[in-house]
Amino acid sequence: MTPELTAAEQAALTSGRDSWHTTAVESAGVPTITVTDGPHGVRLQARPEDMLKGQPATCFPPAVASASTWDPELLRRMGEALGDECRAMDVAVLLGPGVNLKRSPLGGRNFEYFSEDPVLTGILAAAWVNGLQSKNVGASLKHFAVNSQETDRMRVSADVDERTLREVYLSAFRRVMSHAQPWTVMVAYNKINGVYATEHHWLLTKVARGEWGYDGLFVSDWGAVADRVAAVAAGLDLTMPGPDDAGDAELVAAVTEGRLDPALLGRAADRVRALVGKAAARVGGDYDQEAHHALAREIAGRAIVLLKNNGSLLPLDPSDGAASIAVLGEFARTPRYQGGGSSQITPTRLDDALTEITAATEATVIFAPGYIVDEGPERDPDASEADLLAEAVAVAQASDVALVFVGSAHETEGADRDGIDLPAAHRRLIDEVAKVNPRTVVILSNGAVLATSPWDKQVAAVVEGWLLGQAGGGALADVLFGTVNPSGRLAETIPLRLQDHPSYLDFPGEHGHVRYGEGLFVGYRGFDAREQEVAYPFGFGLSYTTFGYGQATATATAGGIEVRVPVTNTGDRDGREVVQVYVGLPDSEVTRAKRELKAFTSVPVKAGETAEVVLTIAREDLAYWDIRLNRWVVEGGAYECAVGASSRDLRSTAVVEIEGDDVRIPLTADSTLGEWLADPRGAQALGAVFSGTAGATAGGAGGGPMAAFFADPTMMLFLSATPLSRLSAFDSSLLSAEVVAKLVAAVND
Ligand code: BGC
Repeated sequence: MTPELTAAEQAALTSGRDSWHTTAVESAGVPTITVTDGPHGVRLQARPEDMLKGQPATCFPPAVASASTWDPELLRRMGEALGDECRAMDVAVLLGPGVNLKRSPLGGRNFEYFSEDPVLTGILAAAWVNGLQSKNVGASLKHFAVNSQETDRMRVSADVDERTLREVYLSAFRRVMSHAQPWTVMVAYNKINGVYATEHHWLLTKVARGEWGYDGLFVSDWGAVADRVAAVAAGLDLTMPGPDDAGDAELVAAVTEGRLDPALLGRAADRVRALVGKAAARVGGDYDQEAHHALAREIAGRAIVLLKNNGSLLPLDPSDGAASIAVLGEFARTPRYQGGGSSQITPTRLDDALTEITAATEATVIFAPGYIVDEGPERDPDASEADLLAEAVAVAQASDVALVFVGSAHETEGADRDGIDLPAAHRRLIDEVAKVNPRTVVILSNGAVLATSPWDKQVAAVVEGWLLGQAGGGALADVLFGTVNPSGRLAETIPLRLQDHPSYLDFPGEHGHVRYGEGLFVGYRGFDAREQEVAYPFGFGLSYTTFGYGQATATATAGGIEVRVPVTNTGDRDGREVVQVYVGLPDSEVTRAKRELKAFTSVPVKAGETAEVVLTIAREDLAYWDIRLNRWVVEGGAYECAVGASSRDLRSTAVVEIEGDDVRIPLTADSTLGEWLADPRGAQALGAVFSGTAGATAGGAGGGPMAAFFADPTMMLFLSATPLSRLSAFDSSLLSAEVVAKLVAAVND
């Protein structure tokens, strides 16, 4: 029997003991548990005075990189490894993963999020959660919801229409909450359509609990609760951090004074108890630091995206002892491997590319820093920087190949970026090195998209290295020398210019509101709808081998669609292809993206061999949210399943006929003439009235002018957007209110 708690004990349970612990209620045998960040490592605060400094833990690749693997199996293994580290550090809940969509390339926390696509995000995050929770350590899926910017992050209202909300911004949460049951979900700082997420009854209680059946715990983001009573009433269970004695007292007062249903407080406290109970199944343990470092390197190697490789300059031959390699750019020696803020991990060790490249090759390696890593605002170069640049150019000129390491200025939680261009000193380094060495390779380190135009035209090869975590240096060497054949794919579009981005005109908003003006057309959906050129499309990435696609087939199944396609490695090197399926419904009755990613798989294929790839699409993933019916609807029709190597490299398309849901929009007096005529029963009833043959059934409006209208196509077009009830305003002899009422009754019985 669980002992009864007093209202005061219940209230105390629903706020934290401190930053990283829940409150214990000794009398009821409820111990405290430890929660900590998250998501690409365990950041267990070393000492109370060390705000963001954690004990050493493996810094795995942040989500920007792990997502580029497009491989849920790797994410699952990463989750398991994190679970082992949590157990070793007695952590019950790890605060991640972050599944907010990358709405704009300027998002300051894009490095912590997976993608601009909800299906890719949801599948990868679910695998991560399943891996972590298989170790009896809980996840905290965050930040629920629509938390896609840092500007004004604790107040801003994300103003977004319901269809976009459901299909795009809530979609990944829904997938993870229904396929992986995260123990906790972290409720975001921001407002959604004017209401704080932490006070959003519709979001927490109606949708998440009611529609999706989520029965885990809702924890607030740290400091996100403005009103404890409103939050508990909306469905929030745990407010973090604590203590919050005043808030606890306010909850008790609200219950005593009848302002808060005691059952709601009781339920929140019960959920905290249930979480603590689940955590009790966790046993301690240890983990193998070397093995986790190796896993971090494997994931990082799989995350690197080869964007350009003219003349197969890469991979370099590691055994060419006569060659000379210029390694240029401070980032080669001082890696940028993670972003700032709550996810910042103190790594167990840190590999740098310079050391790893030097160790991997028999060639002569000469390093020059090229620029100073400067966290401050852009400024004109001083004399010492001019010297650094000149030194790097001289080294490049004297070498067989130049590897130029550049990347983004500091990226951190709390601040959005103000542009997507490389720092000026990095641009100068590329420009000057490319002039003297035609075999120049640019290696990028960045947590969010960087513009690659026009400088990518000046160099032979471009390697997108993201933020790769503590083992990124070795992973880059693996790719540069071909130990790893690149198979990373872009999880976000690289635009030619920031101005081209669908979010450009509505980011980050002002005066407390950000309008999600591009609606459904987030990321590649927007670029595709406007047939806009991009630098590198969503899903893109080269390999050191090539893949050929056979004819795809698509079959309707009970569960949705099964797509099959043979994929052949047509080169002479073993490799991995990320096969992607984009689905479109050209004859859709509603506005839709041209094509949307619905399935993908990363498959190893040996040189010369063919893999028979099978991908499944769940029927529910074909649905759109119908705002008239307030429900998901699968439209019937011919769905195009385009299979390919990126969103703009579609190799084979199969069409499959899908039977739609049996839905009918009820006809009302407010439905237009056009809507009545589009509905078979409506058309029949109206036709009978217009032709004067309706007689007793519809009220006998007779022939007269209506019959004439009905026979005149121009007139029908003219009137088609007029609600039935309003026709009589144009001509009183047209449908009377009485006739309309009878028609409505007749067609909806
Ligand atoms: C962040 C969360 C994080 C929490 C605890 C907040 O500022 O938004 O992602 O988990 O702090 O550090």
